[in-house]
Amino acid sequence: MTRTLITGGLVITAADEMHADVLIQDGRIAALAVAGSQQWSADRVIDASGKYVIPGGVDGHTHMEMPFGGTYASDTFETGTRAAAWGGTTTIVDFAVQTVGRSLREGLDTWHAKADGQCAIDYGFHMILSDVNDSSLKEMDLLVEEGISSFKLFTAYPGVFFSDDGQILRAMQKGAANGGLIMAHAENGLAIDVLVEQALARGETDPRYHGEVRKSLLEAEATHRVIKLAQVAGAPVYVVHVSAQEAVAELARARDEGLPVFGETCPQYLFLSTDNLAEPDFEGAKYVCSTPLRPREHQAALWRGLRTNDLQVVSTDHCPFCFVGQKDLGRGDFSKIPNGMPGVENRMDLLHQAVVDGHISRRRWIEIACATPARMFGLYPKKGTIAPGADADVVIYDPHAEQTISAETHHMNVDYSAYEGKRVTGQVDTVLSRGEPVIEGRRFVGRAGHGAYLARGLTQCES
Ligand SMILES: [Zn+2]
Repeated sequence: MTRTLITGGLVITAADEMHADVLIQDGRIAALAVAGSQQWSADRVIDASGKYVIPGGVDGHTHMEMPFGGTYASDTFETGTRAAAWGGTTTIVDFAVQTVGRSLREGLDTWHAKADGQCAIDYGFHMILSDVNDSSLKEMDLLVEEGISSFKLFTAYPGVFFSDDGQILRAMQKGAANGGLIMAHAENGLAIDVLVEQALARGETDPRYHGEVRKSLLEAEATHRVIKLAQVAGAPVYVVHVSAQEAVAELARARDEGLPVFGETCPQYLFLSTDNLAEPDFEGAKYVCSTPLRPREHQAALWRGLRTNDLQVVSTDHCPFCFVGQKDLGRGDFSKIPNGMPGVENRMDLLHQAVVDGHISRRRWIEIACATPARMFGLYPKKGTIAPGADADVVIYDPHAEQTISAETHHMNVDYSAYEGKRVTGQVDTVLSRGEPVIEGRRFVGRAGHGAYLARGLTQCES
């Protein structure tokens, strides 16, 4: 029996802020008490005076080692989860992929083989449905029972991940019946492919055209469509990586009507813009992801959505490709640039900066980065909060530390940072995963294989 005591910090959850001591026993939160009021004995005492004590981050959208466009995302589960821990994230939910013509089981087995025994922090899986048919629909029931309780469908990427409206409806009906949550990548991929072809024919090959052809109206249209399909199916829907203000408006309208419609955005849409995509000398390729970065004006709508709860979650969509050797594949043809950006290490810090900048409150920071993703994906209150019985996934966060984000110092296995040179206030000091130190005073003391696979329950978000 090991006991750890965290003293003197400001404990922040989605619900409360309080100066409290936190007692951890056997990997779980055992008790909280008013600071200094209890004389608990412990094997290890962590002094958190002047610091925040927060739940470990839950990143509900990562793609470690994801195959895309003839290459693979450059972080493995080992390097990616280590980097996540450095950034204060203690749980990821990654996407296992069904290949067209193959079973869900085969895709899931492949992802287990990549991740099991490799992770520094706990991890679960969503399943990408690339081939909706009678047998994959039947398999969804089995997956839900064993803890894969969410399924992503795409209105984009024809010929790869794309599902037509009938397939999406059928998956949503199945989700309505078995409790599985349908996640949607909402962009009109068929229309986008036409615009891509036309742009390339005009000789528009630079990275910035990636943003121009993937129009915000086509994100809004697909968002509207998946909302209506979900309404017909009587199912909730979670729209991933919302970037366009017109798409936020669709979500807000549906929520005003009382529909169980949820939206996620990502730090890149909150902090970066088409200005980055337009950087010269092919540098814009660093910022190619889908949905694409939008003109700066869209950011205000995203921040507002996060404040009004029209957007509930900030995940990273971490899917890194090196600038040299991977993003290169699209020199002379933006449509061949691997889609994705690094960010799993930066999310908690960037959102803390948003607190400093006055966009969101401290408790909202924890809500959108820890508590709601845990609820959304059936992991609460084991993950996402600091309360008796919860896993002791705890971050000691120094809100006054100053740092400059850089590829020189980050821990993700990628040769650039999307936020190179950005100065932020706040930094992770210590990270515990189920009570065990992973980061201790800015040193990595964790290990590959500590991270446990999480069989998830059903979504706990109803409205
Ligand atoms: Zn993604």
